[in-house]
Formats: sequence, structure tokens, C-alpha cells
Amino acid sequence: MKLKFICPICGNERLEEVCTGATLSHTVEVYRGGENAEYSETEIHEAYTDRFQCEECGYVLYHDNGSVVKTLEDASEWILDNVQQPIRGGD
Ligand SMILES: [Zn+2]
Repeated sequence: MKLKFICPICGNERLEEVCTGATLSHTVEVYRGGENAEYSETEIHEAYTDRFQCEECGYVLYHDNGSVVKTLEDASEWILDNVQQPIRGGD
């Protein structure tokens, strides 16, 4: 079941995952003098979740013990503890 996030500060409903330490790669074409490099689409090979935050105001999700929420599992728990979910059957 998809959970509904509501920011306690601004009421926005979109949550974003902020990642750091990512390793990116793309194809390059090398020209004489280093000019006019052309790129393929960038691939992300590795990234570490730094935090989950409100897409609008940047409110960061924290556990009750003060540590930052860093996994989707914990984000799920945070939302269930902090956001009243619509009552419905199914998915
Ligand atoms: Zn917000």
C-alpha cells in the first residue's frame, strides 16, 4: 500500500530522497584540445541515502531518538506514526 506523506510544516505531499556519495559515469568523446566533449546519458552506479525530506520546504524526517531517517523502511514507519492515512481497502 502506498503511503501518503504530508509535511508537518508546509502540508506538501511530496517526499524526496536525498543521496550523496554517488558514482556517476557517462560516455565521452575526446576532441583535440579538450573541446566539444559529448556525453551519453549519465548512469548512477552507487549512491547513499543521506536523508528524506519534504520536496517543498526541506523538512527532514527524524526518528524520535534524534537520528535521521535513512531507509525506506524507516520512512514508512515515520509516515505511519506521523501522518494519518486515508481509510480505504485494496492496494
Ligand atoms: Zn514541507
